[in-house]
Amino acid sequence: MTPNTARIEVLVRELLLELGEDPEREGLLKTPHRVARALSFLTHGARMDLDEVINNALFTQTTSSMVIVKDIELYSLCEHHMLPFFGRCHIGYIPEGRVFGVSKLARLVDMFARRLQLQERLTEQISQVVMDSIGARGVGVMIEARHLCMMMRGVEKQNSTMVTSSVLGVVRDSVATREEFLSLVCRRGP
Ligand SMILES: [Zn+2]
Repeated sequence: MTPNTARIEVLVRELLLELGEDPEREGLLKTPHRVARALSFLTHGARMDLDEVINNALFTQTTSSMVIVKDIELYSLCEHHMLPFFGRCHIGYIPEGRVFGVSKLARLVDMFARRLQLQERLTEQISQVVMDSIGARGVGVMIEARHLCMMMRGVEKQNSTMVTSSVLGVVRDSVATREEFLSLVCRRGP
């Protein structure tokens, strides 16, 4: 389903009026059009097909050591306020015969981030999909993000970062593997 942008434009114009704005003033004339396009883009992950996103992204490889992809940029919208949260996602997994193409992991993050979302759910969805799609032995996902709904609304938490993590399989069950994931993810460096 593709959103009806003409309908969204009408609603945004109504919203501007209700906020005491004049939708006819020069700066706002095209705003409903821009907002409709922006919202449509920022939520299009919810309308994507998972199989298409990971199609051809899996490679056979016999390695069984942990693969870490760090600092994947992440932009999402909190579903409580429809305001952005943004930060970085770190993914680690232990393959069982198949690995991900690196750019596809980033696309996977985008797919789940570009929708109305909660950081906790986003973290879990990414780990579960990585686990299921390559049959990994274990997966760890950590997201560090800042939420504009907290930063902009005067809650005086302007500098706080929310950290969530989700671990599955051997990364959850083995203390040593979990610690390996955490130390690799937390290590700052090139
Ligand atoms: Zn929020």
